[in-house]
Amino acid sequence: MTKQSWAEPFKIKSVELLRMTTRQEREAIIAEAGYNTFLIRSRDVYIDLLTDSGTAAMSDRQWAGLMLGDEAYAGSENYYHLEAAIQEHYGYRYLVPTHQGRGAENILSQLMIKQGDFVPGNMYFTTTRLHQELAGGAFVDVIVDEAHEPASEHPFKGNVDIAKLDRLVREVGAARVPYVSLEANVNMAGGQPFSMANLKELSAYCRARNIPIMLDATRAIENAYFIKEREPGYANKSVKAILREMCDLTDGATVSAKKDLLVNIGGFLALNDEGLFKRAQNLAVVYEGLHTYGGLAGRDMEAMAQGLREAVMESHQAARIGQVRYLGEQLEAAGVPIVKPIGSHGVFIDAAAFLPHIERDAYPAQALAAAIYVEAGVRAMERGNVSAGRDPETGANRQPNLELVRLTIPRRVYTQAHMDVVAEAVIGVHQRASTIAGLRLTYEPEYLRFFQARFEPLGP
Ligand SMILES: *Cc1c(COP(=O)(O)O)cnc(C)c1O
Repeated sequence: MTKQSWAEPFKIKSVELLRMTTRQEREAIIAEAGYNTFLIRSRDVYIDLLTDSGTAAMSDRQWAGLMLGDEAYAGSENYYHLEAAIQEHYGYRYLVPTHQGRGAENILSQLMIKQGDFVPGNMYFTTTRLHQELAGGAFVDVIVDEAHEPASEHPFKGNVDIAKLDRLVREVGAARVPYVSLEANVNMAGGQPFSMANLKELSAYCRARNIPIMLDATRAIENAYFIKEREPGYANKSVKAILREMCDLTDGATVSAKKDLLVNIGGFLALNDEGLFKRAQNLAVVYEGLHTYGGLAGRDMEAMAQGLREAVMESHQAARIGQVRYLGEQLEAAGVPIVKPIGSHGVFIDAAAFLPHIERDAYPAQALAAAIYVEAGVRAMERGNVSAGRDPETGANRQPNLELVRLTIPRRVYTQAHMDVVAEAVIGVHQRASTIAGLRLTYEPEYLRFFQARFEPLGP
C-alpha cells in the first residue's frame, strides 16, 4: 500500500451548506434543464463537478486582499501588484488584465490572425478556437496521436507532434502561420501535460522560422507539477522554477485566472513584444476596460496576485493533483473506463466505452452526464460531440475521437468523503449503463452550443 500523502495543506474556516434532493426531484430537474447540466440551477446540485473554472475556495489571505482593493479607474495599486507577481512567476514583460481568459484570447486573435491564416495547436479548446476562427484563422490540430487515445498511458499526451507542425508549415508557408497556440495541461485531452523536452524542441523549431509560441497558460502551473513528477532531471526543481523555464521558451500567454490562480473571476494576456503589447492595450479599452483593470475590480487583481503565490506551492499542487488521482483510481479499480493517465483538473470518463450501445450522433457523453446527475446530484460536463460543435464548412457534427464526461474538481472545495460519494454514484450508473438511452437535440444555439443546447431522450 502506498501512503496517501496528499492531505490538504489547509484547514477550513468557513463552510457553505449543501442541499440534498431526491431522485424523483432530480428526474424532473434534468428534464426541465433539457438534459444539459449547464442549465441546472446550482441550488439543485449536491456536488458540483461541472468545472474547475472560477469555483476555487479562496484563502484567508486572498479574502484579506479584497479589502485592499484600490478601486481607482486608472492606475490601481492592485494592477501594479499583479504586474509584479506575473513578471516574477511567469517572466513575461508586459501585462494586459482581462475579465477572464476569453477576453485575452479575443485580443490576441484579433491582433495576430489574418483572414486565411492557419493556427496550429495541441488540440483545440472551445473558446480559443472560436476566437481564432472569428478572426479569420483555421485551427489545425498538431497534438501527438496518443492524445486522441483514451487508454494510452503516454506521460505527456499534451506534446506537439513536430512532424505534423512541419507538414503544415511546409504546405502553407511560415508567413501564413501567425503563431503556435500551445496549451498547457491540455483540457480537451483530459488535463494532459506537455514535457519540457517537447517544448524545447518546439521552441527551437519555431525560433528558426520566426513563428511565435503563444502559451495558453491557464493550467501551466499544474503542467509544471507533472513535469516535476514525471520528467527526468526535474524532480529537484521547484514548480516555480519549472514554470519560469516553460514560459521563457514562449513569447506570450493567455490565462484564465479562474483555474490555476484560485480566483472566482479574472484573466490576462502577457506579452514580451512591446509593439504587440501597445496594440493589445489599445484593444483592451475597446473590449475590456481601461488597460490597468481590463474588466476587473482592483480587489480581483489583488486576489489573483495572492492566488498566484499560493498556486506555485508544492503542497498545494500535491493535494490538488492527489485528490483528482484519488477519485480516478477508485473509478479505475471498479472498471469504469477513464482517460489515462489521470489528469490534473478532473477525471474524464470515456463515455463511448461506458455506453457502447449509443451512437455518437445520439450524444453518449451528454446522456451520461445527465444520468450521473440523476443518480446522486453530482453535476459533470460533456466533452465530446456536443462540445466539438459543427464544421463551419459542411455543418456536420465534428465527431471528435474523444467522447468524454468530465468530473472536474474545484480547487480546495470538496473533501475526500465527497470524492467517495462521487465514485459510488458513477459506479452505480456504470452498473445500469445498458438502460441509458441516447439523446436528440431540440434546440441548438449558433456559438459554443454545449452551454445552451437542449435535448430529449431517444426512446424509453
Ligand atoms: C477556461 C479556459 C479558457 C477560457 O477561459 P475563461 O476564463 O473561461 O474565459 C481558455 N483555455 C483553457 C485551457 C481553459 O480551460
